[in-house]
Formats: sequence, C-alpha cells, structure tokens
Amino acid sequence: DDNDTITLEPLGNMKPIKDLVVDFTPFWDKVNKVKPYLEPKEAPPEKERHQSPKEFLLIDDASTCIMCGACYSDCNTLEVDDNFLGPAALAKAQRFVGDSRDSQTLERVKALSEPGGIWDCTHCGECSERCPKPARPFERIKEIMTVALEQGVHNNTGARHALSFFNSVKRSGNLNENRIPVESMGIFNIPGLLSLLPIGIRMFLKGKVPPVIHHSIEEVDDVKRIFKELDQ
Ligand code: SF4
Ligand code: SF4
Repeated sequence: DDNDTITLEPLGNMKPIKDLVVDFTPFWDKVNKVKPYLEPKEAPPEKERHQSPKEFLLIDDASTCIMCGACYSDCNTLEVDDNFLGPAALAKAQRFVGDSRDSQTLERVKALSEPGGIWDCTHCGECSERCPKPARPFERIKEIMTVALEQGVHNNTGARHALSFFNSVKRSGNLNENRIPVESMGIFNIPGLLSLLPIGIRMFLKGKVPPVIHHSIEEVDDVKRIFKELDQ
C-alpha cells in the first residue's frame, strides 16, 4: 500500500554531499546577509534592554525558528532563482525589522526590497505549510512588505506592483490589466516599459489584450465602502 511508504530524501534546493547530507552554506550565507543581530538605538544599558509584551509579540513568532531548512527546501522561488534570500533568512530578517529596540528599520526594509528580497516571493505559502514552528515565513514576509510600504520604500517594481494592484481594486473593484504592468515598471522607466513590448505583441497576436477602456464592476460602491471602513 503506497500510504505505508515513507520516503527519505535530502533537503531540496541544496546540493547533496552524501546520502541525506546537504550543503547548508548558501542557507547560512543568506541568513548572514540580512544582518541577523540587533543594531540598537542607544548605548548598552546597565542591565537588559526592555520590551513591552506587546512589542515582543511582533517578533515572537519569528524568534521560534530552529533553522531546520524545511522552508528553504520547498521554496518555489528558490527552485528557479538562487539569488532569492529564501524564507528562513526573510523570517530572520523580520525578527529584527519588527524589533522595537533596533535602529535600522528603514535601512533593513530598503535592503530587503532589492532584487532577491521580499518582492521576489511568489506568495505560494509553501514555506509556512512546511514550517514546524510558529515562525511561518510567508506571514513574516508579508509583515516586512507592510513595513516597507509604511516606511515609503516604493521605488522598486514589487512595491509599485502591490500599490497599483491595491489602487486598481479600490477604484474599480477589479484589476486594470493594462495599467498594472505600466505602473509596476514605473511610468518614467523607458527601458523597463520597452521590455514589456514583446509580451504585449505576443498577447495582441493571440487576441489576449484586455479591453482598452477599463470598466468598474457593478458593485464598485460596495468595494469603495469596504476600503473606507478599512481606512478608519
Ligand atoms: S511563499 Fe515565498 S518564500 Fe515561501 S515558499 Fe513560496 S515563494 Fe518561497
Ligand atoms: S521551516 Fe520554520 S523553523 Fe525551519 S528554518 Fe524555516 S522558518 Fe525556521
């Protein structure tokens, strides 16, 4: 019976060395890249640096990571992009982005918004499914994205895409598929916009180009009401 079969394999997205042993070097290199240590606001106090229970809650889940690599093993982005920091390093990054005692929040989210960072995550959620602890990297990645947007780190394709997506739904209740790629790339980013041309031409030839005039859904007033309530 197939259900009785237990398959043992080396972790994925890492080079096997022997039997089940894999090379963790890229995993640790990426963890080190996010500066996994406190860069405090003030000189060391005589005793410990205090946090309120509410402040600690913001980093409680990320603090539970045991560095097992299960999330890294099953990350879909890492399968195609070695440059991606990966879920474990990003969960560790949130541990310090969310730390009330750290002085480098803006610098951290700027660095994490570079290529290979938070915006390269495909939102598949696989890492959180695999994580044996409450660390759940996908949730931590979304928290870093929120802080990056709140801190005004918008000058990158991922942030522009998220904002364009949000504004499109807010305005019309659905996605304006002509506008989102242009806004994501940046309206003054001429080389970026030109890079969209081949796919635009292919879509045109296949009859897949969205209507030029974008229409709102009938229930758009309900959508606007929801956004208004969320704003309050
Ligand atoms: S949610 Fe993002 S980080 Fe997690 S497995 Fe998917 S692509 Fe990787
Ligand atoms: S699966 Fe969870 S506990 Fe394991 S390395 Fe990833 S975040 Fe940490």
